[in-house]
Amino acid sequence: MRFAAIALLLSCAAAAQAAPPHVHGVALLDVAVDGATLSLHLDSPLDNLVGFEHAAYNPSQKATLDKMVAQLNRPEQLFIPTPSAGCKAQAPKLVSAVLEPAGKTAAPHGHVHADMDADFVFQCAAPQNLHGMEVKLSALFPRTHTVKVQIAGPKGQSGAVLESGNTKVSW
Ligand SMILES: [Zn+2]
Repeated sequence: MRFAAIALLLSCAAAAQAAPPHVHGVALLDVAVDGATLSLHLDSPLDNLVGFEHAAYNPSQKATLDKMVAQLNRPEQLFIPTPSAGCKAQAPKLVSAVLEPAGKTAAPHGHVHADMDADFVFQCAAPQNLHGMEVKLSALFPRTHTVKVQIAGPKGQSGAVLESGNTKVSW
């Protein structure tokens, strides 16, 4: 009994080292403003976006994943930079274990977690007007109740925690 408990502790420690545990409901968003380029990196538990963290087992889950991908592929509906800055989104880069072709994903067992890592880039025609952004992640994905934002902007580094309907960051 005692040995089993120790073995379990050790395996948890090893797992924790491999990848820090994420917190369901909380997404991390890195914002970098560099001249006319606004770059965003979203790191979100998949649960926030679709309610599960494994490859689709059935048509309903497949449809849910497809809908998420479609929504993430419309960055201008997720992130709204200062309108007068004239920012246009490029095609995002989406990386998640559940989007790997079937057969490449490890069979889920126990407490398996999966993330969505997404990179978004906007090019802004009038970057001198770019002073902030509205983040609509919680509106589109209601399981996301908190977005922790780190900003590297023209005036330096700052951070913000968006929750309870607060959707605006500025820099
Ligand atoms: Zn998880």
